[in-house]
Amino acid sequence: VQRFNAVVLGAGGVGKSALTVRFVKNSFNELYNPTIEETYRRDIFLDGERYAMEIVDTAGAEQFTALNEQYIRAGHGFVLVFSLTYESSLREIDDIRQQISRVKGANAGTPIVVVGTKLDLVHEREVTRDKIRQLVNEWGLPFYETSAKQNWHVSDVFQDLLAQMRDR
Ligand code: GDP
Ligand code: MG
Repeated sequence: VQRFNAVVLGAGGVGKSALTVRFVKNSFNELYNPTIEETYRRDIFLDGERYAMEIVDTAGAEQFTALNEQYIRAGHGFVLVFSLTYESSLREIDDIRQQISRVKGANAGTPIVVVGTKLDLVHEREVTRDKIRQLVNEWGLPFYETSAKQNWHVSDVFQDLLAQMRDR
C-alpha cells in the first residue's frame, strides 16, 4: 500500500483537530482542547485503490515556527486551515503557504488544500466567499468550505489532497 503523509496547519482554535478527528474517527467534540500534536492514520480509497494516509494534526502556526519547518520537510501534502468566522486566521495560512514555498520550492507543485471551517456558524461568518475565492485564485490552490460539526465536505478535503499527492 502506498503511504502518504499529510500535515494540518493553521492558527489555534480554527478547527484543525475537529476537521482531522471528523475525518479519522467520524466524531465531533464541542470542547476546545488545544493539543500539542497528534498523528492519525486512515486508509482512503481512490479509483478503487487503497492508500494509507498519515495525518499530523499540529498545535498551531504561531507558536512553533521552527517546528513548522520540520513538519513541512516531512510532509507530502498540506491542509491549510482557517476559520470562516475569524478573518485574521487567513493571515496565518498565507504565512504558512509562503513558508511551504520556501522549504519545498516555489514551483514544486506541492499538494495543498485550503480549508475554511465552521461553515455551520452562519451568523458568525466573517470571511465572504468572494474574498476567499479571490485569494485562492491568486494562490492557485483548491478550496473547500467545511463543517466538522455537521460533517460537510470534510472527506472532500482529504480526497482532493490524496489525488494531488498520488498524481504528482
Ligand atoms: P484547533 O486549535 O485548530 O485544533 O481547533 P479545534 O479543532 O480544537 O476547534 C476549536 C473549537 O472550535 C472547538 O470548540 C471546536 O468544537 C470548534 N469547532 C471546530 N470545528 C467546528 C465546526 O465545524 N463547527 C462548529 N460549530 N464548531 C467547530
Ligand atoms: Mg488542535
